[in-house]
Amino acid sequence: MCKRLKKDVFKIMPIISLKQQKNDTLSKEIKALPPPKTAYVPLCSSRRENLVATVSVGDTVTPFVTLSQPESGKGSPVNSPFFGKVISIKKFVIPAVGKLPCAEIEVKNTAEQHPDRETAKPEDFSKEEIMDACMRAGIVDELDGRRLWEKLAEASRSGLAAVAVDAVEDDLYSSAGLCVLMNYGGEVAKGLILAGIAANLAERFIAVYSDKSWDEKINESYGGLPVRRFEGKYPQNHKLRKDLDAKGGGIAIGPQAARALYRAVTQNEMQTHTIVTVAGDCVLRSGNYLVPVGMPVGELLYHAGASEQAQLILAGGYIRGIPVTQDTPVYQGLTAVIAVREADKKASVPCIGCGSCASVCPVGLMPNYILEQLAGGHYSMVGGDAIGCIGCGLCTLVCPSKIYVSAGVAKVKKEILELNKFHMEERSDVYGKR
Ligand code: SF4
Ligand code: SF4
Repeated sequence: MCKRLKKDVFKIMPIISLKQQKNDTLSKEIKALPPPKTAYVPLCSSRRENLVATVSVGDTVTPFVTLSQPESGKGSPVNSPFFGKVISIKKFVIPAVGKLPCAEIEVKNTAEQHPDRETAKPEDFSKEEIMDACMRAGIVDELDGRRLWEKLAEASRSGLAAVAVDAVEDDLYSSAGLCVLMNYGGEVAKGLILAGIAANLAERFIAVYSDKSWDEKINESYGGLPVRRFEGKYPQNHKLRKDLDAKGGGIAIGPQAARALYRAVTQNEMQTHTIVTVAGDCVLRSGNYLVPVGMPVGELLYHAGASEQAQLILAGGYIRGIPVTQDTPVYQGLTAVIAVREADKKASVPCIGCGSCASVCPVGLMPNYILEQLAGGHYSMVGGDAIGCIGCGLCTLVCPSKIYVSAGVAKVKKEILELNKFHMEERSDVYGKR
């Protein structure tokens, strides 16, 4: 194992100044989309999850009915966002996860929103009540695609001190997290308090990426919890880790996950929708959309007025995103779909050894070397280094051969984490992607 890991000496240098492209989407209200005619609802959130389908082809489903549940009986189910009929169970590729079984549903309608009930204060709920509601609601944390209850249970066992809402969206267009904070800051803060109670984390705060174009729209605090602002060159999201370490260690959760926790505990609401930024130079009606899980990305782009000139659709952001097709279903945890005119970024030529990826890597890795070893199956040679990757995507951005360098490094990191299960895994839970 790489000694650098144990010493934790990775130094992160923010690299490039990005002119943020969030003004347009942040100036609009979140728009709820109508249900698709046909939806493809993923029946689990990762390949590690052992969920079994509880519906069969021909079954009628109603909103919040269980579509799949953990084999062991412990864990989160997947709940239907729709009234409709199950047509088939098909596999679809979910970015950074792989092929997952999805229930193809002929949709009749979505659930109606019910007015909020009178609620008690977060402090009135016990740890057990919060964890139970979190599990039942099937909440996935958009930061890393993990089940929220699992993260909270691990944090509780690890004796950490802090929990933060991570709304540090430093990627170019992505603004779903900021938008959720601006519109539902009170609920996000209450969800954060509930997460703190569930995992015994007394220090609680909210982190955002600061820019003069939207700074005034962000409060100094929400629900009494302070807002920490990070600013400067890209990437910025690693700074939250330092803050958490300084407070004795902790975890970060997404604004949508925090809000979903609040709504699960107080309203018994299931997480069946996600708020997604749809933007890019091919999108006419860019904005933040409330989307039912299972809607094909192509239909989401249609609602947002994406033109046919879009040559590249990225799920997850412009810099960190992964190419998807129009058929890819919207999955829990998806927060950005970016459609751009750029030519296909898939590798058209092999690595030319220019070293650009190494020159921009904020943690000083040699991504081209890691890819070389990956091709030869030599994980152990480079795995330790790959662990330091913060998933910023800069190596992919600058690669003249249009290679998805960051995806290769992420693959090595994931393999090594799963093989070794060492301490850094907790950190990847906070910052890494699936
Ligand atoms: S994504 Fe690429 S540039 Fe960013 S930290 Fe990882 S290897 Fe370095
Ligand atoms: S930037 Fe691309 S082509 Fe250049 S060394 Fe890195 S992987 Fe190879």
